Amino acid sequence: GTPFEPAGKIVLDLEKLYDQTHEELAYVAKYARAIQQQRGDYNGRVLSIRADDLRALAIVYDQSPSGLVERLTEHGVLVSDPRALFNN
Ligand code: C2E
Ligand code: C2E
Ligand code: C2E
Repeated sequence: GTPFEPAGKIVLDLEKLYDQTHEELAYVAKYARAIQQQRGDYNGRVLSIRADDLRALAIVYDQSPSGLVERLTEHGVLVSDPRALFNN
């Protein structure tokens, strides 16, 4: 069937991601650091990532993109509304 496309933007909570020591998140953290480097985006608390990059990461984890999003949500490292972080 058609792979599930996450509706919203994928936004990582970098503070939580980099604080996490869970082995399962090691590749996501490594990838996020690489993207920060490519963008020169070092000061953000959050990082929006490409849907394409999520697909690539999902392959590494042997999961569907939606499956990976679920795992990331369970680990609490996704932000559903980045603006909410700044408004309270
Ligand atoms: P690029 O893909 O040629 O993109 C050049 C510039 O276009 C980016 O500079 C950015 O300002 C803008 N841009 C491209 N795609 C998007 C997008 O989907 N959303 C937004 N908001 N802007 C976009 P930047 O950010 O300095 O990135 C420089 C280069 O670093 C990019 O060149 C690309 O080769 C790489 N890069 C940066 N972030 C990512 C990423 O998340 N994934 C991948 N695969 N490469 C990235
Ligand atoms: P948004 O995408 O909902 O992001 C809300 C805030 O989360 C941003 O406020 C920024 O502080 C943070 N944020 C989200 N993604 C990243 C990221 O990859 N890196 C960093 N360092 N911070 C991130 P900000 O910058 O005031 O932007 C407000 C809104 O303006 C954004 O809401 C988005 O809708 C728009 N916007 C800002 N920059 C771009 C851009 O390069 N491309 C596009 N298409 N929209 C942008
Ligand atoms: P966004 O900036 O709001 O962009 C939303 C979508 O518009 C992107 O989803 C992509 O499909 C398209 N888009 C925007 N700018 C460009 C562009 O310059 N070239 C192309 N080919 N497509 C573009 P996508 O790829 O899933 O990215 C999701 C979010 O990740 C972007 O939201 C942005 O916040 C961030 N992002 C992705 N790539 C880059 C990048 O190279 N540099 C920066 N600074 N942010 C990026």
